[in-house]
This record gives sequence, structure tokens and C-alpha cells, in this order.
Amino acid sequence: MTSAKPLKTVRELILATTEYLAGKGVESARLEAERLLADVLGIARLELYFQFDRPLLNAELERFRDHVRRRGAGEPLQTILGETEFYSRVFKVRPGVFIPRPETERLVEIAVGLLAPPDHRLLSPVAVEIGCGSGIIGVCLAAEVPQLVVEAVDINPAAVELTRHNAHLNGVGGRVHTHQGSRFDPLPAHLRGQVDMLVSNPPYVRTDEIAELQTEVRDHDPHTALDGGRDGLDFYRALAHGMGPWLRPGGWIVLEIGADQGEAVTEIMTASGARDLSVHQDYAGRDRVVTARAATA
Ligand code: GLN
Repeated sequence: MTSAKPLKTVRELILATTEYLAGKGVESARLEAERLLADVLGIARLELYFQFDRPLLNAELERFRDHVRRRGAGEPLQTILGETEFYSRVFKVRPGVFIPRPETERLVEIAVGLLAPPDHRLLSPVAVEIGCGSGIIGVCLAAEVPQLVVEAVDINPAAVELTRHNAHLNGVGGRVHTHQGSRFDPLPAHLRGQVDMLVSNPPYVRTDEIAELQTEVRDHDPHTALDGGRDGLDFYRALAHGMGPWLRPGGWIVLEIGADQGEAVTEIMTASGARDLSVHQDYAGRDRVVTARAATA
């Protein structure tokens, strides 16, 4: 009898994969190795530590190797795992749809604060989100603000479908309505003048800076979600130009911005009649969100 090749254990795989991913430039190599392995085994990451000597079955090993190969080639961890966490909720992600960034939690926090003040003026507020991607912003707002209705728009049909899916997963499918199309075009006419908040994390990267982004972003996020034109500001101009007929007088405008765009976006919004402009910082202390109110008649 020949003895079979010794099977790889959890411990060996974590060590070998950490080294491999670190060599490929992955920053949190150990953490990511563990998350990929836990996913393949269908267990929580910390449980790996109680199963260090567990040998992997061939099928598990094959799936794990495929995961690791993809990560080593620069695919983001999130699309390999198929989901990510945002604002303490779980969201599905998929290739071809912009992956949620932690900075955007700040935008959600600010928007929630504006929509859910202790005054009861807004009984059934309406928010419009332009460029909803995986749906994180609209879904979190609907989940945090009772009775809020979100009208979520994206030009990418895959994003619209994913938003719908994530809204159902998070229990707010009935209050997040999705629309496929360009900016305000697909919104139903009855929303004119009724919108309490316009919220967006638009594409704001300058076209010539896209080539310099890290592989995970450059080669995996859709460029329609990143490319803000020559100066990165095209989408803000388009929003400023199109928002007028939709917003209620005094309605809120809440926009994510690039760290150096606070002044320019403030100018664009002011020129289109918005008032009460302010620029807010993210947790890293960089300018990240602009808020404003639509003009009152
Ligand atoms: N923050 C993103 C990045 O730099 C860009 C997001 C956007 O354009 N909306 O990867």
C-alpha cells in the first residue's frame, strides 16, 4: 500500500497563502487569506483557529486555490466572496458593479441625520439616488429612516438589478424603487417638486487619473462609476443642471466628493441656486461630502 500524499491543513494553507498574497502586493494578506479560506469552508473566520489541523477535501482545496489565484491577479476580495459589509449590513456585490467603499458610510450617516431629525415635518419623505450601484446608500437610508421612499437610478442594468436584490435582502424592498436610465430621465413625472433629498456618490475621478488607480479599482470597477471627465466634475454639473424640477423647495442635496473637490462642487451648486452649502470630512479627515439645500421659491 502506498500512503496517500498528506492533505493540506488549515494552518498550512493560511501560512502559504499569506506569503503568496503578500508577494502579490496584497496589504492585509493574512486577513484576506483567512477570509477566503473561511468562505470556502463555510465557517466564520475566527473558527479557523479551532480547526487548524483540519485537512481540506480535494474539492475544497480546488475552490480555495481558484479564489487565491483570482485575488493574486488583482480581483477585489469582495467580488470573490460575493458580498461585503457596509454600515453594519450585508450587501451582495458582483463584477461589473462599483464596489462599496467605507468612506461612503460618512455620506449615509450625514444623510440619515438630515432625514430623521426629531421634527415631524417629513411624514413620508422621498429620496432620489442617482447612480445607485449596488444600492448601499438607498438601502441604508430606507432601513434607517422609517417611511422613507427611495427612488434609485442607475444607467447600468446590472446595478439596478443588484440594488433591487440588496433592498430585498435588507428588508426594504417595498420602499426602494429602482429605475434604469440616465440621471433624472427615468423618474416618474409625479415626483416633480416632491423630492426631499437628492443623494449621490457620482463618478468623480479625473479621466487621466484612472490609469493610476490600483488594479482592484482600475480593472474591476466599471469606469462609468469612476470617470468624472477631464476635471472630475462632469457629473456634479449634470446634477446641478437637472435637479431643479425634482427637488422640493428647501430639499436636501447630499453628494460624495473627491478630497480636493469641496470648493469646486460648492461653486457649481451655488451657481445653480442651491444654498446653505457645507463641506464635511470623512473619518480620515479628508473632505468627502457636500450638503446643500435647494432654493426656496
Ligand atoms: N472613491 C473612489 C475611488 O477613488 C471613487 C468613487 C467615485 O468616483 N465615486 O476609488
